[in-house]
Amino acid sequence: MMTLSSKLAAIVGPAGCVSVEDSAPYLQDRRGRFEGKALCIVRPSSTQEVARVVTACVEAGVSIVPQGGNTGLVTGSVTDTTGEQVLLSLSRMNIVREVDPLNFTMTVEAGCILQDLQTAAENVDRLLPLSLAAQGSCQIGGNLSTNAGGVQVLRYGNARDLVLGLEVVLADGRIWNGLRALRKDNTGYDLKQCFLGAEGTLGIITAAVLKLFPRPVDPACAMVAVASPEAATKLLTRLQGATGGLVSTFEYMNGECVRGAVEAMDGNRNPLSDYYPHTALIEIGATGEASMRALETTLESAFEDGSITDAVVAQNETQRQALWRIRESIPEAQGRLGAGIKHDVSVAVSRVPELLARGSELLNELVPEGIVMAFGHMGDGNLHFNLNQPGSMPRDAFMSHAGRVNRAMHDLVMSMDGSFSAEHGIGTIKRDDLERYAEPVELGMMRALKQALDPMGTLNPQVMLPPKSD
Ligand SMILES: Cc1cc2nc3c(=O)[nH]c(=O)nc-3n(C[C@H](O)[C@H](O)[C@H](O)COP(=O)(O)OP(=O)(O)OC[C@H]3O[C@@H](n4cnc5c(N)ncnc54)[C@H](O)[C@@H]3O)c2cc1C
Repeated sequence: MMTLSSKLAAIVGPAGCVSVEDSAPYLQDRRGRFEGKALCIVRPSSTQEVARVVTACVEAGVSIVPQGGNTGLVTGSVTDTTGEQVLLSLSRMNIVREVDPLNFTMTVEAGCILQDLQTAAENVDRLLPLSLAAQGSCQIGGNLSTNAGGVQVLRYGNARDLVLGLEVVLADGRIWNGLRALRKDNTGYDLKQCFLGAEGTLGIITAAVLKLFPRPVDPACAMVAVASPEAATKLLTRLQGATGGLVSTFEYMNGECVRGAVEAMDGNRNPLSDYYPHTALIEIGATGEASMRALETTLESAFEDGSITDAVVAQNETQRQALWRIRESIPEAQGRLGAGIKHDVSVAVSRVPELLARGSELLNELVPEGIVMAFGHMGDGNLHFNLNQPGSMPRDAFMSHAGRVNRAMHDLVMSMDGSFSAEHGIGTIKRDDLERYAEPVELGMMRALKQALDPMGTLNPQVMLPPKSD
């Protein structure tokens, strides 16, 4: 009798099998916290092959972990340690099936690398606005399954807002072709929403129709030192008013983040004349001189009333990229500076100043020697509110605080009607938090969805939903 591994190998062919020697990158979690084992790793090249793999696994009673670029930050894309799960990588499904510039859409396979899709859109003078620091390796299927955010949510929304249609292999192996490229379609439940942000627990996304936008030429970009977080949120409001809502990026960085990005990374220099407690990277994605004028006029008046104390406006693309590099290199700089206790939290934009004040006080109280490094998508109310290891404390001693620090920060944001996981998802590492903070009614509806779409628990059984306690 054929084993499951040989059945799957026959389905995907030699090019779709990953040998044991090449398996390490697939089994290692991005942050190096976890290493899984797998019965086998397969890379199907078509939707039909994905469906056949799923069917074979269902028949054998074996569960599957779908994997995109494996850049997720909540350990959801790696098989567990039993060696009994199949890892299904979408990386060979990387064809752009259609670009329709008149409809402002593109139809793409799940394994396409995000950056390649941005380029494909640019080639027809369109913008695919989803943008994040992992874009050179994450895949669109992973982005949609985590409902990724990134640096342009303020203007264009999260990944789910960029989707018109989906193709999904269901947990029983059936293929759902929902690849509609329609702006209006009220024919029953919006089924695609079940799979967006579902982290591979309800179906395997194999293709999507994405929305495109007019491509801004010469976006206006600046880095400013704001007098306070309150002044930052007011500045955002003023900029939105001055541009008719065209601000695409409003990223916050505290002083330690800018200093870290400059001192720990080669090639970065501080564009401002000093390190300030509160800095923002701003971009207005309109075209040409109008956006630059709106930015400069608003910044001038903010200078006059003391809301900002220093600013640099990029005069060309090279300067713009240098400003962006500071923001983009913060996560790597943090890693180089020491271990980090990390949070991905959100509150209403109007409450971000309160979160910064209360969160910093809390972190200082819990680990007085720790270095507060807070940065992120202030325009979306989402901060990566991290605490970094001080030079004076060994790594293990510092990380021994992680549990209680995470708990206290999550308690704080939940008490402010916020979210303990704004854009990274639940994966395996935030399952307990979901159980702690989700309303029983919410958890019940989530379980009902899982039961309806994956009654055998074939897809990503260890991800997102905590096992039932009864
Ligand atoms: C440097 C860096 C910066 C980042 N910045 C951001 C950011 O700004 N915003 C943000 O939101 N995230 C960010 N992330 C997190 C991560 O990049 C995103 O979550 C990304 O969307 C994951 O895509 P992926 O292809 O790597 O998915 P993976 O990590 O491979 O998978 C993520 C989850 O989706 C499931 N999955 C993957 N593909 C499919 C599929 N086709 N069908 C069904 N399920 C699937 C997996 O099982 C897993 O549960 C960052 C990560 C890094 C390393």
